[in-house]
Amino acid sequence: MDFRLGSEADAFRGIVREFLDEHLTDEIRERAHETGTVHDWDFHRALGERGWIAASWPVEYGGQGRSPYELTAMREELRLAGAPTDGLGNTLIVARTINHLGSPELKEELLPRVLRGEMIFALGYSEPDAGSDAAAAKTRAVRDGDEWVINGQKMFTTLAHEAAYVLLLARTDPDVAKHQGLTMFLVPLDAAGVEITPVHTLGGERTNVTYYTDVRVPDRLRVGDVDHGWEVATVALAFERGGMGLTESDRMWRQTVEWASTTERAGAPVIDDPLVRDRLARVAIANEVAKLLAYRVSWVVASGGVPSIEGSMHKLFYAERFQTAVAELMDMLGPEAVLAHGADDAPVDGWVEHQYRHAPVTTIYGGTSEVMRNIIAQRGLGLPRA
Ligand SMILES: Cc1cc2nc3c(=O)[nH]c(=O)nc-3n(C[C@H](O)[C@H](O)[C@H](O)COP(=O)(O)OP(=O)(O)OC[C@H]3O[C@@H](n4cnc5c(N)ncnc54)[C@H](O)[C@@H]3O)c2cc1C
Repeated sequence: MDFRLGSEADAFRGIVREFLDEHLTDEIRERAHETGTVHDWDFHRALGERGWIAASWPVEYGGQGRSPYELTAMREELRLAGAPTDGLGNTLIVARTINHLGSPELKEELLPRVLRGEMIFALGYSEPDAGSDAAAAKTRAVRDGDEWVINGQKMFTTLAHEAAYVLLLARTDPDVAKHQGLTMFLVPLDAAGVEITPVHTLGGERTNVTYYTDVRVPDRLRVGDVDHGWEVATVALAFERGGMGLTESDRMWRQTVEWASTTERAGAPVIDDPLVRDRLARVAIANEVAKLLAYRVSWVVASGGVPSIEGSMHKLFYAERFQTAVAELMDMLGPEAVLAHGADDAPVDGWVEHQYRHAPVTTIYGGTSEVMRNIIAQRGLGLPRA
């Protein structure tokens, strides 16, 4: 067993670090934090210019053919540096889905612009009454010649206010079993009849509700076959959970160690306190396990497999342990821990407080912990359907 990513990935990691030193400024991080829009156009375009939007894609599709290990190293560095990459994440999911299931015309029309970093995508599955059960979507698409007319509402359409298109799951046949009557579309977010309303979350993140009133979408923007949208969604979800490298918890841990090493309490550095060291060690261990679960996902991909169970294992473990970690660190920091980023005397510059509010959502989006457990139980362990 080898717990490293290999020399090629290490070399690429060095190149990514140099890139981040040049392109990722404190101003960009602060802007993402203040607005809750975890995307920055200058940074995203710089990634595009480097050819790193889809660095792992084959060269003939506009990528650089980088290995899953190199990709993991790159994601780790982006995460550790606190780069605003939600736009990149969403866009890769949709671009891979288009590449997998889209028509040749759709690929030609959209993918070159995506790879240059000129546009991003939003994901439009969830509705007020269809979250974990995304196949219960009620948003309707009715055919009218070469066009479709879309009416409905999507909940939590993150980055819809920056994206060019939303990958939208719509009901095209209401008279069949729910998984069978769905179709996937790319709906231009500047089309007439689209309305975007912001939602500001407890974690400081901005997401949106999107409303669709008689929105006309040409048939060429359909992804996959009519009434086979659930298959498209399944592919997209596998890409979404397929390993994320390091987590927000690693950056938070490093920031806290740095703070504890440079801050004094009762005449000694905070980190000299054995109870502090104990907490930091526990968080470090959880982070290390999460990292190895992510490396396992990379290994499955590198071996030609689809990491649906391993991706769920990683997602479940990291999100739940992240919540434990933020609680442990808040407790360790004492009453001042509730001071937010920007407040005088906020320990760790308020970043633990920020993660304390952000961590709850990680067991919700991308599939809840219960849904991850169901996937592991049914597909991984062969247990009966709950
Ligand atoms: C900040 C944020 C950003 C988001 N961004 C996006 C986005 O960009 N695009 C998008 O489409 N969606 C997005 N989502 C939506 C997210 O995917 C859903 O919130 C999530 O799938 C859960 O759905 P729900 O909120 O309707 O909860 P529900 O599905 O109603 O779940 C409620 C509870 O029931 C449990 N539960 C549900 N079904 C089962 C089951 N079968 N077995 C056991 N327990 C179950 C859940 O685990 C949960 O605890 C976002 C959500 C948030 C909060």
